[in-house]
Parts: sequence; structure tokens; C-alpha cells
Amino acid sequence: MTPEEFRVHGKQVVDWIADYLGSIEKHPVRSRVEPGAIRAALPAHPPERGEPFENVLADLGDVLLPGITHWQHPGFFAYFPANSSGPGILGDLLSSGLGVQGMLWATSPACTELETVVVDWLAELLGLPERFRTTGSGGGVIQGSASEASLVALLAALERAGGDRQECAVYVSSQTHSSLERAARIAGVPVRSVRVDQDSLAMDAGHLAELVADDVAAGLVPAMACATTGTTSTTAVDPVRKIGEVCARHGVWLHVDAAYAGVSAVCPELRWINDGVAEYADSYATNPHKWLLTNFDCGVLWIADSAPMVAALSTLPEYLRNSATSSGEVVDYRDWQIPLGRRFKALKLWSVIRWYGAEGLRGHIRTGVRHAAEFATLAEADPGFEVRAHRPFGLVCFRPLWAGRSEVEHNALTLELMERINASGAMYLSHTKVGDSVVLRMAFGSPATESRHVLSAWRRVREEYERMGSAGN
Ligand SMILES: *Cc1c(COP(=O)(O)O)cnc(C)c1O
Repeated sequence: MTPEEFRVHGKQVVDWIADYLGSIEKHPVRSRVEPGAIRAALPAHPPERGEPFENVLADLGDVLLPGITHWQHPGFFAYFPANSSGPGILGDLLSSGLGVQGMLWATSPACTELETVVVDWLAELLGLPERFRTTGSGGGVIQGSASEASLVALLAALERAGGDRQECAVYVSSQTHSSLERAARIAGVPVRSVRVDQDSLAMDAGHLAELVADDVAAGLVPAMACATTGTTSTTAVDPVRKIGEVCARHGVWLHVDAAYAGVSAVCPELRWINDGVAEYADSYATNPHKWLLTNFDCGVLWIADSAPMVAALSTLPEYLRNSATSSGEVVDYRDWQIPLGRRFKALKLWSVIRWYGAEGLRGHIRTGVRHAAEFATLAEADPGFEVRAHRPFGLVCFRPLWAGRSEVEHNALTLELMERINASGAMYLSHTKVGDSVVLRMAFGSPATESRHVLSAWRRVREEYERMGSAGN
């Protein structure tokens, strides 16, 4: 494809995306295809001769779109959002356009230096501590995901702890994201499960202290604890400060997983979620690709002291040796992540921050929080529903009530209600379990969602609930 051909097709692609986003509401939110249907509709063999690019666009519309679940649909509430935005898409496109592989500073200095600036900007926007800035011994880096961030943090923690991995321990709770357990499995470290408070589902720092003391007494090395601010299931907030005090007493690395909610700290009224981070966190991760308008994937990890991470991950084969690396004056982000290669990741986050400004980002978060409040207020006013009081961010957990039912029957009915609503195509929600009860989850925060969508989502929930009741369920 010549640059001139690219110009023509590139414009078609941008038009296609603009048309898609402009008319996204005409699609059912959740794809309705059966397993294997998309595969069956695609040719089993690659073409021998090149085809016009129009064929790709035609198949995208006719064959693939039915198999798409529309994450940017204003009625998508099922999982934490994976926000996309115009500047995010364009920044990604520019990154593809430059086609840079920025594994080393020397392989594209701007790729590294823009990233340094942008993660420092984001740290400032979120009110994160000075020691996470690149000006000191620490700094930030863009990872593909929070899962990678946890693994990198764990490897750094184990490096600092030293010793035999089987004699180290990692502390999480039942509400910690599964990626921590996976990171521990990859790293070969045993995991301890810290109790949570039955109501708030927040980690019990007292129990953490007991477990750590027991391990120390047994001659083991407590290597890392993970505190979560905004858990995936219910957005529970672990007491970072109390957990940090325990960690500090025993030299345990404290990783704070704020994958979803961390970005909400752009708003001063939500900055309480950073409490204890400045004093105690060794590493901190949040995902602009969830609720901060930056297309997937973009997760940021900050670390207070990059030395153990670089010690854990750095290798220098002959073919990567260069004078800039040897000078020690530059950052090579390949030493801050699992893969070697990396695209020009900072461009899309930079585009997003510049387009919206701090003010625009705050407005976006506040809209999500407001939509959650609007929905919760409607559900709370209805005697047929129970709403979890804890909803500081964009997630509302609630459940329908059916009088005189056992917990098991109740749960089955709640799941049936969810299925009926999702089958409507107008919206998509999900569920989780709190104790023995199934509860429904509605996550607000899509830039396409407006108050009218919140209202019609509530009406649909109410309507299906009523229909189930009157059908004699
Ligand atoms: C979403 C989420 C993750 C995982 O994020 P990925 O970027 O998909 O790996 C980790 N922790 C929490 C609290 C999350 O909500």
C-alpha cells in the first residue's frame, strides 16, 4: 500500500469509525451470535491474491459486527468500562503510523521521553506522591494491563526481599483481583489470604498483621502485600494506611492496585482513595484504559524505587548494547516490563490528556459518579430492590427482592432477571456474589452514556422485574 493508497483507505476507515460510533445505539449491546458462528462465516484459507481494502471493511460490517459486543454503547454497564475516545483512537493511530519500537531509549528517544513526561503528568493529576515521579529514584511506566503491573511489582518485591521464593509470601484477600494470584503462580511464591470485613469487604489489617507475624516467626519472608482501592467485584476499598503500617514494620513491599478507581483521583473530592499511598506504597497501578478515556490497552505502574525492578528484569545481550544505555543517563523501559518490545504507548495518553485537560477529565469522572447516583436513587426508592450503600465511584451493586424465597431461589431469580434484561439488547449488566447473595452490577462511566440512558436502564430493570413477578415466578 503506497502512501497515496493509504490516504484514500485511511479516510474510509476514519469515516467507518465515525459512522459506527455515531450510530452505535442501533446495535444490541451484547452480541447474540452462537459459538463458532463468526468463524464459520469466514473463509478457512487465506487469499492467494491480495484483495482491495474495501473487502475488509465490507466483511467488518457484514460478518464481524454481529459478533461484536459494543463496549462503547451507552447501555453497556456490565464490566468496568473500557473507555474509548476520539483523541485516544487518534493517538493510537499515530503510534501505528510512526511504527516505532521503543524497547530502548536509543531506538526512539521521543518514545521514551514522552512516556516519562506523560506518566509524571498523570501522577500530578492524580495527586500521587513526589517519589513516584521520574525526578527521583522512582518513576512510572505504561504497561499493557494491571495484571502485568502486578507481576512487575511482585518481581521487584521479590528481588528486594531476596532469599528462596518458596520461603517468601504474598498477602492478598478474597477480593483481590485474580491477577495477583496469577502473578504469584508465575513467580512461584506462596499466597496468603487475608480476611475481609464481612460488610465492607475491605481487607482486615489486623489479620494481615497476624499472618505476617506468624510467617516471620516461622522463618519465612513476607515479600509483598497487595491493597486494592476499588475492588473488581464491589469497589471495596482496602485500608491502605493500616495495611501500610503493618508492611512498614516488617519491610513488606506494599503494592496498591487501583486499576479501576485510581483514575478517579483526578477529582479532589475522590482523592481520599490515595490515603496512605504517599507514606507507604512501594508501587501503585491504575488503568487509564478503564475509566480515563484512553483506548485499551494502557495501564500505568509507578514505583518508588526502580532499582529492584530493573535488577529483576534487566538483561543486556550484546545486540542491545549502546552508548546511551552505558552512559546511565537514559531510561530503557524494556527493563520496566515483561516483554522486550513496546509500541509508542504514550501517544494516546498524551493525546487524551491534552484534548480533555484536567478539567475535562474531572468532568468525565464526575458524570460517571453522578450516573451511578441517579441509578441508585431510583433503585433505593423502589421497595422491590435493595442497593449496596457502598458506591463511591461508578459502580452500583443492587438486587431485586422476592418475598418468601430461600437464598438459593432468590439467587436463581436474580440471575434470570439479569438474563432477561441482557437478552433485550438495550443494555448489558453483570453480577457478582456478596457472601451468599447474588447481586447485580451496573458500572457507569462510558462517555456515551447520558442521564436518559440511566433512566431507561432503570425502567427496563423495573419492567422485567415486574414481568417476572406477574408471570407467577
Ligand atoms: C480490572 C482490574 C484488574 C485487571 O486489569 P487488566 O488491566 O485487565 O489486567 C486488576 N485489578 C483490579 C482491581 C481491576 O478492577
